[in-house]
Amino acid sequence: MTETGHNLPFRVDVFTLFPELVDSYCGASILGRARDKGLLSVATHNIRDHATDVHRSVDDAPFGGGAGMVMMPGPIFSAVEAVPEAHRPLILLSPAGTTFSQSLAQELASGPGFSVLCGRYEGVDERVVEHLVDQEVSLGDFVLAGGELAALVVIEAVARLRPGVLGNDESSRDESFSSGLLEYPQYTRPAEFRGWGVPEVLRSGDHAKVAEWQRREAIERTQRRRPDLLGDG
Ligand code: SAM
Repeated sequence: MTETGHNLPFRVDVFTLFPELVDSYCGASILGRARDKGLLSVATHNIRDHATDVHRSVDDAPFGGGAGMVMMPGPIFSAVEAVPEAHRPLILLSPAGTTFSQSLAQELASGPGFSVLCGRYEGVDERVVEHLVDQEVSLGDFVLAGGELAALVVIEAVARLRPGVLGNDESSRDESFSSGLLEYPQYTRPAEFRGWGVPEVLRSGDHAKVAEWQRREAIERTQRRRPDLLGDG
């Protein structure tokens, strides 16, 4: 097991065949800073450490035939059971899962932590789904080579909602999906770039007018691009 944080209030345990992929991403940028500040712990556990044969096998051919290999239940159950302190829910990343969303990120961020199981090859033996994991989560209707990238997406989306992880907690409260709307357009300096200006109201200093403009733009943009979010889809 590689531990990338200590005594931290929000704990994520990742069960994977590629802990180094997860450790590397979680050690940098926002997640790395959250860990350094003592706000987040991401502990990775190598499923292969729980293989029982000399070849350290974690996969085998599917019963009934078919292409590819399937991750065996034994090493996965042992890896998870070796960390009883890992928080639930245990989420399996899977194209067959419920599509990940900001509301699920918010739900997970409101607890003490959670755990993720990353599939590889053709996925995991169905008994893992039926008797070990609590929930299956998908990133969308496409197939990745493994669950690690998907796990990192979930971890980052959740961690940035935890108090203190972003420099300014307002930035996660105000952005796309948190209010059921896409975010309004943003501008920064210079006020004029290649002849393209910035909406005058944003430079007016009138906070009420700015807020009204932002709300109007958010609604208009959501209606145009994602009417389904407004129930108009
Ligand atoms: N045979 C599986 C199928 O057809 O549904 C695909 C397995 S995929 C090659 C290997 C692993 O990548 C999966 O077990 C899962 O952990 C992960 N994965 C692939 N696509 C994903 C997605 N859209 N969302 C979440 N995880 C995904």
